[in-house]
Amino acid sequence: MSQTNGNSPHNEQPIENVVIVGSGPAGFTAGLYAARANLSPLLITGNDYGGQVTITYDIENYPGFPESLSGPELVEKFKAQAEKFGTRVEFDYVNEIVVDRHPFVVRTASGAEYQTRTLILCTGARPRYLNVPGERELTGKGVSYCATCDGFFFRGKDVLVVGGGDSAAEEAIFLTRYASRVRILHRRDRLRASKILQDRVLSNPKIEMVWNTVVTEILGQNGSVAAVRTFDTVTGATAQLETDGVFVFVGHLPNNDLFPGKLELDADGHLITDRKLRTNVPGVFAAGEIQDKVFKQVATSVGQGCAAAMSATRFLEELEAGHGVDWRADPREFVAERAAVPA
Ligand code: NAP
Repeated sequence: MSQTNGNSPHNEQPIENVVIVGSGPAGFTAGLYAARANLSPLLITGNDYGGQVTITYDIENYPGFPESLSGPELVEKFKAQAEKFGTRVEFDYVNEIVVDRHPFVVRTASGAEYQTRTLILCTGARPRYLNVPGERELTGKGVSYCATCDGFFFRGKDVLVVGGGDSAAEEAIFLTRYASRVRILHRRDRLRASKILQDRVLSNPKIEMVWNTVVTEILGQNGSVAAVRTFDTVTGATAQLETDGVFVFVGHLPNNDLFPGKLELDADGHLITDRKLRTNVPGVFAAGEIQDKVFKQVATSVGQGCAAAMSATRFLEELEAGHGVDWRADPREFVAERAAVPA
């Protein structure tokens, strides 16, 4: 295997061994493992440096840090460790990949173009919108998707949190540091969040649960959030709740803009991978929330980033050994079994 990046046949531009797209836990871990395999990987960060973990105030469940640490602190540690072994980090945004020829091509917003023998896609996910009237217009004016970023502006104020998962629970607890009252509006009568977070939410005197309730409209006054209109999913009753802020945590959507028509996606837009984190194109791998719609933890994304880099390393060894790659064949295993398993 090439220990350093080789040259193209015409000696024009070096061909990378590994280009990693994305700088969340999966991306940096892929960088760490590819660097330790002496592949001198190039990691292109994307616009959201560090990914979603950077908007987490306190990470309590990443092993090895019993005292907990913040998302940005953890990302800096990931980056330092990946760079220590030779990962090159470029602050740029990938706006095109070409995977129907080899080496693959990666083009970025700054105008750079890279050729690479393998690609590891770790583009992650972004918050899902409620898609109700008023939401877009009032985003940044009382509507927020990040309590860690915006909670400070709601000191002594009334806020609503929409959602019932771990994010809604965790962020509602965080908001009690600032807000005088936090109401969680959930569309069912039971939280989806983990038991420990449920217990903390339900025992927090500053948090009230508003069950069986969906937001149908967000209303503004003088350019800021003033109230929401709600619908009771059991009785059908409508209501208006006055508030200063609406924090939306209703799940995530995969960041897949680069992939339609190029790589196989499932019905929800996640890249389909097998146990070796291979996509349907030989030499293209994916890790983290772009391909995981089940676990979505920092710990699982880290594991997937590691596995994807190990698979890419094995792929390059095969390539170097001249074993040949059938570029038309889908390299994934277990596709049929996976398709048969309900999400
Ligand atoms: P999630 O688990 O998918 O929960 C989304 C919540 O929003 C659900 O309660 C869902 O209701 C509700 N919802 C979805 N669409 C809605 C809509 N249109 N209107 C109203 N409510 C809607 O998403 P998440 O909380 O962002 O968590 C994502 C993943 O990250 C999960 O795997 C989670 O475990 C993980 N995570 C972990 C931690 C942690 O370990 N500390 C922290 C944050 C996130 P239903 O319950 O009725 O479906």
